Amino acid sequence: MKKHNFNAGPSILPQFTLEKTAEAVIELGSTGLSVMSISHRSKEFTAIIQEAKSLVKELMDIPDGYGILFLGGGASLQFAMVPYNLLNRKAAYLNTGSWASKAIKEAGLFGEVVVVASSKDKNFNYIPTGYVIPQDADYFHITTNNTIYGTEMKSDPDSQVPLVADMSSDIFSRPVDISKYGLIYAGAQKNLGPAGVTLVIVREDILGRFERPIPSMLNYKIHVENESLYNTPPVLPIYSSLQTLIWLKNQGGLSAIQRVNEKKARLLYEEIERNRLFKCTVENPGDRSIMNVCFVMNEEYQELENSFLEFASSRGMAGIKGHRSVGGFRASLYNALPEESVLALIEAMNDFEKSN
Ligand SMILES: *Cc1c(COP(=O)(O)O)cnc(C)c1O
Repeated sequence: MKKHNFNAGPSILPQFTLEKTAEAVIELGSTGLSVMSISHRSKEFTAIIQEAKSLVKELMDIPDGYGILFLGGGASLQFAMVPYNLLNRKAAYLNTGSWASKAIKEAGLFGEVVVVASSKDKNFNYIPTGYVIPQDADYFHITTNNTIYGTEMKSDPDSQVPLVADMSSDIFSRPVDISKYGLIYAGAQKNLGPAGVTLVIVREDILGRFERPIPSMLNYKIHVENESLYNTPPVLPIYSSLQTLIWLKNQGGLSAIQRVNEKKARLLYEEIERNRLFKCTVENPGDRSIMNVCFVMNEEYQELENSFLEFASSRGMAGIKGHRSVGGFRASLYNALPEESVLALIEAMNDFEKSN
């Protein structure tokens, strides 16, 4: 049976990406060689990384002056690389979940960290507002989508100091105003490609503002100067990510995919609210993620949790068990997840309600 893939990450990728990648693993075009077995400095691979960069630029409407990098180490390495390169004395962070907390911990190794607000008091089930960003901070770090808790910042905040964002789980899900950001990073494995590559978009003028010896591989400036080819980049994940970018352009780009994403999320949230068995963990509708929908059994039906998981699994749902720090269920509705899968989940929830 074909599964409906609600995994949080690594997660669903377009069929187009899987097929094109599978072909290129065997033979890239008519080169007679696998994409994994050619030089990363060959004209074939140069064309691949250039096209990937120009599609990122086009889809996200990135002005000149930004470097686009494909790095290794996952989003978690960015938790350290950001402060290594940008934290001279003090940095401001918004604490909206486990990933944000990890980023804060790493920044503490490099200087003073001011947590401007935190939603930890309510198990991160809302996005704090009304905080003040210190004007003397070197940058302000946010996590736009909190994959584990299902909250999302739906608009790009204003910041007088360079804005840095972990967009691992909502990059390419909607248009963003790039000019507001100094640096954006995203591990590929949620909405772009296979694990192993991390996309970094950095405004070049925020780099090199103070003196600190930085190991070459952790130095954004070196990667920008070498056009993301300082060393051997993750060639296969980059090739795969390029296929997703091509697919995304064919879907009509970010505004078009945003409409699809918002519809999928609205349908599922409506069902959770309608269905007497379930409730959302994020109370404020404005804070609810369109990528990761978190819900639990209503108190009086708590004991049905496992039987719903089994029932959903018998209907072909994969990956809907919630993260252990929230419990219940999480349906990740990344770009590549078709509306048909959301409708199948809703039908399963409906049928389960009828029989209980
Ligand atoms: C998954 C995730 C990460 C961690 O990514 P790795 O590539 O595994 O290091 C960081 N931040 C967010 C928001 C995530 O969803």
